[in-house]
Amino acid sequence: MADDKRVVLVTGGSRGIGRAICLALGRPGDVVAFNHFDPDESAAEETIKLLTAQGVVAEGRKFDVSDPAQVNAFIEDLVGRHGRLDVLVNNAGITLDTLLVRMTLEQWERVLKVNLTGTFVCTQAAAKVMMKQRSGSIVNLASVVGTIGNIGQANYSASKAGVMALTKTAAKELASRGVRVNAVAPGFIETDMTKAIPEKVAELMKANIPLGRAGQPEDVADVVAFLCSDAARYLTGQVLHVGGGMYM
Ligand code: NAP
Repeated sequence: MADDKRVVLVTGGSRGIGRAICLALGRPGDVVAFNHFDPDESAAEETIKLLTAQGVVAEGRKFDVSDPAQVNAFIEDLVGRHGRLDVLVNNAGITLDTLLVRMTLEQWERVLKVNLTGTFVCTQAAAKVMMKQRSGSIVNLASVVGTIGNIGQANYSASKAGVMALTKTAAKELASRGVRVNAVAPGFIETDMTKAIPEKVAELMKANIPLGRAGQPEDVADVVAFLCSDAARYLTGQVLHVGGGMYM
């Protein structure tokens, strides 16, 4: 939307890619709300500090992105106070990696619940608001492994493939109401999530990146900011791979 002041919600904005997205989207006067899950508030406080320094009205809250009651209450309260919701970025995500034959049902279900159900729950709540206002942009965080698969990530890769399919269906359902829905599929981005990957495996992955380096959270955040901007007004239902050419 071409309006001056935007109301933005980023899930999982306390650190990593989510924090960079908050900072890339937040212009002076905008409201940027985000959630996080860790009871330790220090990372969320740092995001709020950085946003405030940019002149953004920042709000962080702790709740599980996959809990419909908490998501609906948060969005209702946010829209009640600020009158609208212009941007939703479904960024919150987790990994619980292990080989397929060792994966427990709990590991499978938790990753699907946070990554895919969480994206559905937030999209549904935001769509109701955006459809009424006849404008809005939703960006979902998928992953390169949702397209190409990855050893040890049956749960995660399936959740991200689901996010891509959900993106396309939501884009088709919401287009006539002026709401665009797109996804970014990052490759290997240096955050806490990729710190958990054994060094040898990480080196092998980085060696296969045509642009010759791992990505930084800002590399993804800039593409998300583009997708939420008026410059992307004719884009919907797209998955943009942001992986230095890892997948092409
Ligand atoms: P990260 O550094 O681990 O940060 C994850 C964020 O999600 C944190 O803010 C975390 O909050 C939040 N979160 C986790 N579970 C949550 C829940 N149940 N409810 C609410 N918030 C929750 O991860 P990242 O690397 O920045 O990844 C961000 C997104 O990009 C994810 O969807 C991930 O799958 C995707 N992605 C990342 C890469 C990569 O290479 N890093 C590649 C492809 C896709 P707390 O701090 O409170 O736990």
